Amino acid sequence: MGVVFRTARIGLRLTPAQTRRCFALLVAAGDVWATLIEVNEARFRRGARPIANYQEWCREIAGVRAGELSVTAMRSVVRRYSDAFFTTASRKRAGEPARYPRRRRLFPVRWYHETFSLDSRRLRLSTARGSPELRVRLAREPPYPLEQIRSVTLLIDAGRLAVDVTAAVPVRSLDVDPQRVGGVDLGIIHPYGVAVDDQALLVSGRAIRAEERLHLADSKARARHMSPKAPRRGQRGSRRWRKLRAKQRQAEALHRRRVHQAQHQAAKTVIEWAIEHRVGTLVVGDPQGITHAGKGKKQNWRLHAWRRTHLMGALIDKAAVAGIRVVRVDERGTSSTCPECHQRVPKPKGRQFTCPHCGHRGHRDLIAARNIAGLHAGGTTNTTVFVTHRRAGHPPARRDRRRHKMDQQRQSCPAPGRPAVDGESLEPNPFEDQTTTPNIA
Ligand SMILES: [Zn+2]
Repeated sequence: MGVVFRTARIGLRLTPAQTRRCFALLVAAGDVWATLIEVNEARFRRGARPIANYQEWCREIAGVRAGELSVTAMRSVVRRYSDAFFTTASRKRAGEPARYPRRRRLFPVRWYHETFSLDSRRLRLSTARGSPELRVRLAREPPYPLEQIRSVTLLIDAGRLAVDVTAAVPVRSLDVDPQRVGGVDLGIIHPYGVAVDDQALLVSGRAIRAEERLHLADSKARARHMSPKAPRRGQRGSRRWRKLRAKQRQAEALHRRRVHQAQHQAAKTVIEWAIEHRVGTLVVGDPQGITHAGKGKKQNWRLHAWRRTHLMGALIDKAAVAGIRVVRVDERGTSSTCPECHQRVPKPKGRQFTCPHCGHRGHRDLIAARNIAGLHAGGTTNTTVFVTHRRAGHPPARRDRRRHKMDQQRQSCPAPGRPAVDGESLEPNPFEDQTTTPNIA
């Protein structure tokens, strides 16, 4: 049975003294990182060979002290430098754009097995010989059993101290059939649409989109407020401007966390549904290379905000733990082909797909999911007879500012049973998403 590595980010509950020590450790690690860069720069100027090898570096830094960093913590910085160096070198050889490591003021510090101890929420971290160990309190218990935890990393996330807890999680042995193939369509409105046989799952991302909308409106308002206070080039910003900028960063981080959380929830729903339907292989339409296609400012922003890399990554990660294989295929043409008569169909405008050749109707994202499944051997699907609807994320507590338009529309609607005023009726619009697809589940 294999294992997969999983990481969870957990906030910290710290006293002011603990906060100071944590920051000092990050600064010390940043100093080590900068030193490694400087040593190599100096060697490069002299025409000497730069040091890249981890063992060679370890010999080089023997006996060096950096604040309260323990020798193993210092070596963890060296290890990451060495890895970054080799990655850059190999990418450069392959002709890809790559940069050598750059200086960072604060650098994450990592503790491996046996250099830290964790007891529910109490975390003890070893420090340099002669200094007391650092004890910190986690904001929540790690989501993994203690014996699976392999390393902890102290880092800064949007101005706040946090730890990444990494665990080796064994792959669950479940009753899934690798021959049962499901198709997955990644989307903006519905993060995931899944089809297998005559069954389908549609995860709605309305809450994520509402969150995106509100965040965009807030960011714009904040930017308007900030721009007159922005410093000129080479000038130090005012205290007020720096405060605003810190607020902006915090809001960005909060938004990112909310979207990521909702996407994880959506991916979890997909995997649970797949397990329930004994799907052992998921074929995912890979939308790689669709940004920068010159589709206009608005569409580009939508694609950027979609965070599909995370959507794909979350699904792959959760599938790995469940022992489900994920295959990526090119999704081109999958939303404009009829899965019943296999003819090309003009791309539907709304969510409803209707084939002009055979009259087949269905939800656009599920049509795409069926076509994606068909791209893999054994991925034959039938006409969908049952659709499970699920939601991901919580709708924001505040209201979307666009909602007032809907309110006005509703006010001008006639009451049920009353004759419709010209052009207005209570009949659901067939092209409006979800009003026609009742929530069966
Ligand atoms: Zn057709």
